[in-house]
Amino acid sequence: MNKRLLWASLILFITLIPFSDRTLAQVVIRGGLLIDGTGREPIPNSVVVIEGGTIKAIGPVGRVVTPTGATIIEANNKIVLPGLIDMHVHYRSWEDHLFISHGVTTVRDVGNSLAEILQERKRSQEEGVAKPRVYTCGPFLDGFPPIFVMQVSYPVTTPEEAKAATSKLIRAKVDCLKTQQNITLPLLEAITAVAKKGKLPVTAHLGDSRLGNIKASAAIALGIKGLEHISGIDFLTTPQSELEEIADMIVSHSVFVDATLVLDEILSKLLDPELKKDPLLKQVPPKEFAWWERVYGLNTWWTERHSNRWRTILRKKKEFIRMLIKKGGVITAGTDTPVPYMYPGVSLHRELELLVSAGLTPMQAIMAATKNAAELLGHADRLGTLEAGKTADLQILSHNPLENISNTKSVEVVLRDGRIVWKK
Ligand SMILES: [Zn+2]
Repeated sequence: MNKRLLWASLILFITLIPFSDRTLAQVVIRGGLLIDGTGREPIPNSVVVIEGGTIKAIGPVGRVVTPTGATIIEANNKIVLPGLIDMHVHYRSWEDHLFISHGVTTVRDVGNSLAEILQERKRSQEEGVAKPRVYTCGPFLDGFPPIFVMQVSYPVTTPEEAKAATSKLIRAKVDCLKTQQNITLPLLEAITAVAKKGKLPVTAHLGDSRLGNIKASAAIALGIKGLEHISGIDFLTTPQSELEEIADMIVSHSVFVDATLVLDEILSKLLDPELKKDPLLKQVPPKEFAWWERVYGLNTWWTERHSNRWRTILRKKKEFIRMLIKKGGVITAGTDTPVPYMYPGVSLHRELELLVSAGLTPMQAIMAATKNAAELLGHADRLGTLEAGKTADLQILSHNPLENISNTKSVEVVLRDGRIVWKK
């Protein structure tokens, strides 16, 4: 290093010290039972040292030094858990409060208008916002006609168009790519090829395979990274031996399964009058609610027969997950909020309950909404688990979710980037 450079860096160093001292707020959370999201045994009487939004040190009391002058949050008899990640949402800003107050600090948007969602993603990265951090796949890559409106779809008809649309999304810096139900095999092949070069994961919502749409096994062979709703499998007719083969393929290709069981559950009880009595309805904007009433034709064509069908599918999907988990499959937790009656945050807690009723341990369910989710996002180096060097997105609960997964609802304090963004 020459002399001038040495002096310049020395001056920079000296001017930076007081600056960083002022800005790097230190927070210490002590005394809580730490469930760090890695799947390791929880640590009783833990200490979490946070500085400037990052976890500086973490571990049992006695092994972690508490810095002087730090803001102390006492967590005796409480649980410290990572902030949760909802891996299947169509983000709207009205959902912020419900996400945050339920401990959801990150969401993956899997289908939205490109310009709007990029704007929302940017807002979600601002310092100190009481919003979940947003990642997005942008609009759906779909065949023609697209399943959803043009505003949220990039319909393509040829492999060339599919490649161009995929490249356009990669240039727009989306975080993932999401294909929708009318995509065909040659189109998906083109998309996964471009995505592989751009190093972006493709997650697929496949159509009804009875209607000639792509089967899950074919999509997995093409290299999709995520399978939304466990789609592309006809759960009502596929024999057990074939289901076993698909599960084996999911495991051998390291595909993440985003089950969204809570969606099947909602569809199975859409005609239940109790749905309209939920006090949470007050938090849903009238425009959104009008769409809820319209989309499934609740007062027109949806009948108990439709609900019954989804009840059976839910049961079969749970059996599939039980088998998949035994084989070593990796599950992520998603909800599809805000589809009808799918309340942000609340629905993710319900998804965890359903995953446990399908055969996951409470620890595995927690990992589905923390570690596994961060891995599929490609950000396991900073998100998902509570370890030194990672982002301080965490929550304090009053009851232990390892004893009963429903206890994830007992949220008392939520921190994002080391700042308290919600308190009971
Ligand atoms: Zn969706």
